[in-house]
Amino acid sequence: MAVVKVSLLDALHEHFGFDSFKGNQEIIIKSILSGKDTFVIMPTGGGKSLCYQLPALISPGCALIVSPLIALMKNQVDLVRSYSSKDNVAHFLNSTLSKAQIKKVRTDLLSGKTKLLYVAPETLTKQENLDFFRDLEISFIAVDEAHCISEWGHDFRPEYRRLKEMIEQINAGLPIIALTATATPKVQSDIVKNLGLRDPQIYISSFNRPNLYYEIRPKRKKDQTIREIVKFIHQHKGKSGIIYTLNRKTTEELADMLMANNIRAVAYHAGLDANTRAQRQDMFLLEEVEVIVATIAFGMGIDKPDVRFVIHYNIPKSLENYYQETGRAGRDGLEGICLCFYSHKDVQKLEHLMRDKPLSEREMGAQLINETVAYAESSVCRRKVILHYFGEKLDRENCGNCDNCRNPKEKIEVKNRVVIVLKTIKALEERFGAEYVVNIITGKTNPQITTYRHHQLPVFGEGKEFDAHFWNSLIRQMMLEGLIEKDIEEYGLLKMTDKGAKFLKKPYSIMVSLNHQFDEEGGDDDEV
Ligand code: ADP
Ligand code: ZN
Repeated sequence: MAVVKVSLLDALHEHFGFDSFKGNQEIIIKSILSGKDTFVIMPTGGGKSLCYQLPALISPGCALIVSPLIALMKNQVDLVRSYSSKDNVAHFLNSTLSKAQIKKVRTDLLSGKTKLLYVAPETLTKQENLDFFRDLEISFIAVDEAHCISEWGHDFRPEYRRLKEMIEQINAGLPIIALTATATPKVQSDIVKNLGLRDPQIYISSFNRPNLYYEIRPKRKKDQTIREIVKFIHQHKGKSGIIYTLNRKTTEELADMLMANNIRAVAYHAGLDANTRAQRQDMFLLEEVEVIVATIAFGMGIDKPDVRFVIHYNIPKSLENYYQETGRAGRDGLEGICLCFYSHKDVQKLEHLMRDKPLSEREMGAQLINETVAYAESSVCRRKVILHYFGEKLDRENCGNCDNCRNPKEKIEVKNRVVIVLKTIKALEERFGAEYVVNIITGKTNPQITTYRHHQLPVFGEGKEFDAHFWNSLIRQMMLEGLIEKDIEEYGLLKMTDKGAKFLKKPYSIMVSLNHQFDEEGGDDDEV
């Protein structure tokens, strides 16, 4: 296939001015050009856009690109146009356009000059648009930010759920390319299922960011934590950084405290008007301030390559969020320090935030939080845990660039106690979650336990010399070790893995570190 290779490279050079493909780009482009459904999982900055832009430019007809962010659509179109001499090569169609503008877009589409059309999912809910597209020559459909289709992703958009049926109305045979930067195995299977991808070619790029250093610190009293942050920033004087907090008031307070300590900082949150937000974002991009203290409202579409540190003043609500937010550090491949302050109190605060949500959402949220907690409390290489979360394996035991690798924690022998947990899970026939299992082990009764007569099990109270914190943290460690797992289908039920069953038959020495420092003071006292 040498011919194809040469011409694809030529096309890359001609249309984008690049000399070589990045990562999996070429093989992805070939897959979509051959008409196969294609699924691309690539971290932010990996070069996803080119994977559909290039085939769109060289295929007959026009590609439809579904994108959730109307605000970013114009940027993307401008970017494509900047590579081309013709403005009508790319257009977008969404609710912001006037009637006259829509007419112009349609004329260009019909004339065959337009190769890429960005649409919002809402655009596809309009029947007249579907009818129009049905008569148009469409090369393929690209679904950007495909994780929006999954409730397990960090940005669920219900309209994405209807994409499949809408695409089928246009032309059920069209090849689909789905792209995302955020796919845990759960989100991945949701995307394949909900978009109805047919035997897709799946390309997963590594999520490893070797230049990022990860560290978790126990969060102590507020003024003490702020002193730690100030000290850290002074040690990195003049460098750009982002501090993420959970609530708006804290962003303001923290920014004030930093300024009082001679650090140029601004707060950024959704409560500010659009002008102020844009202004503060620019101040950060133009380095008039060193630090921006923000809620998660900040960051979507921000591309400042030399952010040197990201500090989490509160633990985020999922490991996915953590990865995305820390991912804004070191985009240029140079140093990026990711510090996260962690306490159980903040975990409770996150749980509290979900109190009014429907049960299913609460359960899902709780599981995501648990995974973050496991990460924070783990003594295993942080990178290993993060990559594991994305279904990826680190090729070494020790990355050398996280706190746990640099300063290994003290470990204790837990062989017999692991046996107790496994025996309990087995005695309960794998039909209960962690809280219930811990109650049995520590010998606590509740009406459910009495009804099931579980207080009569031989394991009942077998581990009462340790408290629930101990057992919970051991259970999290056992999960990381792969001895047990949480059932995904049936929410949160603890199951023994094959590895766990083998362990129970023939227990061996197992050393873990269990952390209690996170139960100390911790957390600020702000209302969320
Ligand atoms: P993503 O959507 O995955 O976050 P982008 O599509 O925005 O990534 O690409 C990230 C950056 O990489 C952009 O600045 C883009 O121009 C650049 N890029 C993409 N492909 C190539 C390539 N083959 N060679 C050089 N630079 C590339
Ligand atoms: Zn490590």
